[in-house]
Amino acid sequence: MNFDLHSHSTASDGEWSPSRLAERAAANGVEVWALTDHDVLGGLAEAREAASDARIEFVDGVEISVTWRGQTIHVLGLGIDPSDPDLQLGLERVRGSRRLRALRIAGELERAGIRNALEGAYRYAEDPDLISRTHFARHLVQIGRARDLAGVFKRYLSPGRIGYVAHEWAPLDGAVRWIRGAGGQAVIAHPGRYDLSPAVLEALVLEFKAAGGTGIEVVTASHSPGQYDLFARLAARFGLAASRGSDFHGPSEGRLDLGRLAALPAGPESIVDALGIALAPPVAA
Ligand code: AMP
Ligand code: MN
Ligand code: MN
Ligand code: MN
Repeated sequence: MNFDLHSHSTASDGEWSPSRLAERAAANGVEVWALTDHDVLGGLAEAREAASDARIEFVDGVEISVTWRGQTIHVLGLGIDPSDPDLQLGLERVRGSRRLRALRIAGELERAGIRNALEGAYRYAEDPDLISRTHFARHLVQIGRARDLAGVFKRYLSPGRIGYVAHEWAPLDGAVRWIRGAGGQAVIAHPGRYDLSPAVLEALVLEFKAAGGTGIEVVTASHSPGQYDLFARLAARFGLAASRGSDFHGPSEGRLDLGRLAALPAGPESIVDALGIALAPPVAA
């Protein structure tokens, strides 16, 4: 089954509307698709309708920004009920702090001689509460500070660089609780990106499981094939379901296209089974 359970629309830092993503997913042969915008549920209604028009299965999702041991970790909520009040309130609080962080990022960039970055970044953000580093990065590329987003992150927006501002996101147990309370599966997103030692990664997984987390992303754009195997083994060892998602943000940002992903390695349970998704057999014409 071709499932892609990680993608972003203009509701957060993606380049495309939910409808456009649904069409692309269908064109690329995706059978089950989740929209997982950062800290916001605003794109889900449009996505669900567009997925239905495109005759693909839709999973309501979100990617929650979490701070764990001083480090930013992303947790996907899949199969959530977007009308859940505790989830909505939790996300509202996470979003509320983004504007202040943006102001501080702009202040740091100003010290580096880059003026008016705040206005520049907000021009790329559809929802000002969802102002993200990606919007700063797009602006900095546009004014010629780097050739591409990766270059901006490397030079300005990553920990230790001049435009990076440490930030306190949601607590891990809180984020997992909101997702579980809304009937969803909580999944650690792109674990290969956090640069954790094996011991710390294990501590994260144990704490995540104790909070109610059930899955881990195995196949995703920022992982190498070696990491697919590594995290599939980790999933099997800890009884977590394996997930697969492109983390698509748009066509010009040079990562994987929707649905164009390797298959999950054998071993762990698939998150699709944990979500209880069974595709109806095609109806004869
Ligand atoms: P924020 O949640 O505002 O801190 O922004 C995080 C977002 O920045 C991620 O979701 C990615 O979309 C983007 N991002 C982080 N690192 C990179 C990178 N090296 N290259 C391109 N985009 C990145
Ligand atoms: Mn993003
Ligand atoms: Mn992420
Ligand atoms: Mn993502």
